Amino acid sequence: MYSVSGISRVLNSIARQSVEFLFPASCPLCGARVSTDGELCGDCWSEFNWIGNPKCCRCGYPFPANLDLGAHPLCPRCASGECPLDLIRAACTYDDVSRSAVLPFKHAGRILNANFMSRAMIWAMRDTSVSPDVVMPVPLAWRRLFHRGYNQAALLARPIARAYGVPMDLTSVRRRYRPDMGHKNAAQRAENIRGVFRVINPGAIRGRRILLVDDVMTTGATFSELYRVLMNAGASSVYGVVFCRVVRAI
Ligand SMILES: [Zn+2]
Ligand SMILES: [Zn+2]
Repeated sequence: MYSVSGISRVLNSIARQSVEFLFPASCPLCGARVSTDGELCGDCWSEFNWIGNPKCCRCGYPFPANLDLGAHPLCPRCASGECPLDLIRAACTYDDVSRSAVLPFKHAGRILNANFMSRAMIWAMRDTSVSPDVVMPVPLAWRRLFHRGYNQAALLARPIARAYGVPMDLTSVRRRYRPDMGHKNAAQRAENIRGVFRVINPGAIRGRRILLVDDVMTTGATFSELYRVLMNAGASSVYGVVFCRVVRAI
């Protein structure tokens, strides 16, 4: 005799197997079979330049593997007090491989990539003692949200907030629309981003430790500007985690 819950378990399992038969879990980048949907296959995983040690303990800038820099190495930028946030981590470097995951995710609706990207970002935070009160995706201007249909940073932020067991804040900071910053240098990017963010709910910012989430960090200008605005509103700390970061020789 089967119990009702036993029968429903069997039916569930049959349904799951049918779905897996019709739509087998596949690597979001190459389509190879994988055990869990949204996960990368081993070959694709090994193509990425995941950031390990040694790296800057503040901003996560990766140093060449053969350098012995002690337990808490700092890059020149952070050593001179110019880190955009209190702490930054990136899962991997921005290159042809990470670009091939990020661009379709950002512009072509490949939102399934958020699964492995957010998992890699949670992994990138493992060596920090960051304990945020709230996770905040870098805000997107309404106009861009309307055209794209989704905020890619929010898709990454949701599983990260869940991993920390804290809420995600999508509404306390608003971003004004400015045309794209593509291919501008650091000074132009900083100039272009100045004044685009506005805290509309200071009560949700004051005294909070905030973890910002974005897909890519280029010069850090967006983070610097958010830091200025959030600290002015009374945030106690502002951290950031991105999927990939541009790594320039310093
Ligand atoms: Zn693959
Ligand atoms: Zn640094």
